[in-house]
Amino acid sequence: MTEDSFNRVVVDCAALTRNYRLVREMAGVPVMAMVKADGYGHGMVCAAEAFARGGCTLFGVGELAEGVRLRRAGVTGEIFVTLGFADEDAAAFASYQLTPVLYRFASALALSRAATEAGQAIGVHIKVDTGMGRLGVLPAELASFVAAVRDLPGIRVAGIMSHLAEADIPQAASTARALASFAEAGQALSLAEGIIRHIANSGAVLFSPESRGDMVRCGIALYGYHPAGRVAGTCLQPAMSLVSRVLQVKQVPAGVGISYGHTFRTTRPTTLAVLPVGYEDGYSRALSNQAEVLVRGRRAPVRGRVCMNMSMVEVTEIEGVEAGDEVVLLGSQGDESVDADELAAKIGSISYEVLCLLGNNNKREYR
Ligand SMILES: *Cc1c(COP(=O)(O)O)cnc(C)c1O
Repeated sequence: MTEDSFNRVVVDCAALTRNYRLVREMAGVPVMAMVKADGYGHGMVCAAEAFARGGCTLFGVGELAEGVRLRRAGVTGEIFVTLGFADEDAAAFASYQLTPVLYRFASALALSRAATEAGQAIGVHIKVDTGMGRLGVLPAELASFVAAVRDLPGIRVAGIMSHLAEADIPQAASTARALASFAEAGQALSLAEGIIRHIANSGAVLFSPESRGDMVRCGIALYGYHPAGRVAGTCLQPAMSLVSRVLQVKQVPAGVGISYGHTFRTTRPTTLAVLPVGYEDGYSRALSNQAEVLVRGRRAPVRGRVCMNMSMVEVTEIEGVEAGDEVVLLGSQGDESVDADELAAKIGSISYEVLCLLGNNNKREYR
């Protein structure tokens, strides 16, 4: 008896390493590899290790617990915790040598106490909201915030950072405004030596070279996808596949309703393959009657509703499909491939969400 599922996500670690090298070369400045959301579904630790093999020494996570997990797994280099922390957890930044992102003065106080107790100086990066309308101090408050933080014992202001709302759109007016606002807010700090500045994500690296600053923070490009969806001529290589197998093959006549709600009805004698993949595996119910999977190197359309742990595909035109055949729901088989942008378009979303859904709901295997 095996504990394996029929379904597995296969991650090509060499592709992650190659993508890191490409992005690093494109950026021309140090690249913080964003490995939040369990490495965009690829597995945080393995993704960080793959980027490290390409030379990466800067990693970004969301929460403190992720940073601790990365450190405990033996990842060296600087680890940025971008969502801040609860005051009572401040000591972890000293004990695990993590870099906090600050946007609230109360957390600076908590951090200062923890740093003083640990007898260490903790470098912090301060988040500025330059128009994203999300986390961060407002540009007008930055200078006084930095000055107040700098006065606290045990804290060193190492950087200021911001985030762009429309970096995936070339020449977006909001990007130009945010860059100007970030530059202006930063000018007020010009007396402070050694404060680095970073605002660019993958979209900004690809579309707005002027945004690169002292460092960039990239996620999606490292995982092989262009933030603007499918774009011709990128050398980035997707690293994730989702592979399953056929449970049953059967011939049904014309006029048969398929799956819950009978949203598909056969109009001819039809061969169906039943797959052990459903929305519990991150294969969205919105893919019902929309997606295609690969069987024997050919595309097979999903028929009827995607269920919780099963889906049906039509293989009438594909010769010789049998129970046990390998099925690729994301990735390539033979000359065909299905990528996360294709699935994202069908559910009104973006590759980021498809990677998280599939990657974080299936057992992973590393190649
Ligand atoms: C996730 C994240 C990024 C990376 O964005 P991509 O579009 O995936 O490159 C950059 N900065 C912050 C703060 C993030 O949370």
